[in-house]
Amino acid sequence: MDRASDYGSEGWGFEFLRARFFYIVMDDHTLWMRFALQEARKARDKNEVPIGAVIVHEGRIIGRGHNLVETLQDPTAHAEMLAITSAANSLASWRLDDTILYVTLEPCSMCTGAILLARIPTIVFGATDPRYGACGSAVQIANTDSLDVHANIIRGILEPECKKILQDFFAEIRRRGD
Ligand code: ZN
Repeated sequence: MDRASDYGSEGWGFEFLRARFFYIVMDDHTLWMRFALQEARKARDKNEVPIGAVIVHEGRIIGRGHNLVETLQDPTAHAEMLAITSAANSLASWRLDDTILYVTLEPCSMCTGAILLARIPTIVFGATDPRYGACGSAVQIANTDSLDVHANIIRGILEPECKKILQDFFAEIRRRGD
């Protein structure tokens, strides 16, 4: 049986075709990071530092978040924190076993702590953060022998795009400041 007849029974709606196309041209991590970037753009459009996150469980997004520190005037309103709360609500459980968190920028120590407490086993990030990154850049708490919980780290997925949206945002702020 050829592949075309395989697909016959599933229908040929546009969404289906588009999803199928993206699966063919991108690996999974790249695909999900595109959704995290979409969240980062939502932050940018609200004049927030553009960082976005999604949490994936069994091949679908169960939590999303983008940075809302200014909007909420809440220093804990990082993309990852909001995505974790939204994923825990979706699963009606604080334990996010068997999920992957995708975030455009390396998580800070607060978010990495929350990721570990939520038992998220894998963190995938785009750009590194030498100032606050807690997955090996500034400090390493995601994967250290001194803690009892650990997460796997996959870095550098869509790094140029994740970096550029931040660079463009800060360039724009500097330009407006002139
Ligand atoms: Zn954070």
